[in-house]
Amino acid sequence: MPVSIYCPHCLRYTSLNVAPAEYRDHRGDSKYTAALWQGNDGWKWWIGICNSCHNPVLVRGEGQQIYPSPLPSPTDPAIPQELAKDLNEAKLCLSVGCYRACAAMARRCIQNACLEKGAKEGDLVKQICELTRLGTITKDIEEWATVVRWVGNDAAHPGKDPVAKEDAEDCLKLAEQFLYVIYVTPSIAKARKAARGK
Ligand SMILES: [Zn+2]
Repeated sequence: MPVSIYCPHCLRYTSLNVAPAEYRDHRGDSKYTAALWQGNDGWKWWIGICNSCHNPVLVRGEGQQIYPSPLPSPTDPAIPQELAKDLNEAKLCLSVGCYRACAAMARRCIQNACLEKGAKEGDLVKQICELTRLGTITKDIEEWATVVRWVGNDAAHPGKDPVAKEDAEDCLKLAEQFLYVIYVTPSIAKARKAARGK
C-alpha cells in the first residue's frame, strides 16, 4: 500500500510504512504482521509510519482519508512571499475542508498577483484584462484567472452558487499555475540564461 504524504509531524514528503502489530503464533511465540482493520463499509484502515520521523498517522485505503490531515504541498520559493502566504492559506483551507475559504483565498492570490504585476484598474475583471494587455499573461491564462474570479466570487458573497470540494481544488490548481506562469517559470529561465552568460 504505497502512500506518500506531506507528513503532518515532520513536514517532509515521505512514504508511509504499515505499522506492524504483534501477535502470538500457535506456539505462543511473538510474531508481527501488518495490522489492517476493515470497516463495515469495506474500507481498510491502517496505521502508517512516516519513513522520516517514524510518527504514526491513521490511513483509510490508499490515502483517501488521513488523520491528522497531511500538510499541503510546499509553495515554490520563486513566488513572492506575500502571494505565497495567500496560496498557503488557500491550501490549508482545502486540507481542512473549508472550500469557500479556499476559493476566496485563491481569488485573492490572483488579485494580489495582478496588483504586484502593476495592474492599476479598480476591480479584478479589469485588472486581469490589464495583465493581458501588458503582455504578462496570454488570453488562455486570462481565462484561468477568470474562472478563479467566478468561483471566488461565489465563495465570498451570500446567495451565490455553492462551492464544492472539486470547485475549491480546481480553483487552487488554477491559482497556483497562474503564479507558476508569471513567477516560477520566468525565474527558472532567468537562472538558466545567467548560467550560460546570456
Ligand atoms: Zn514525519
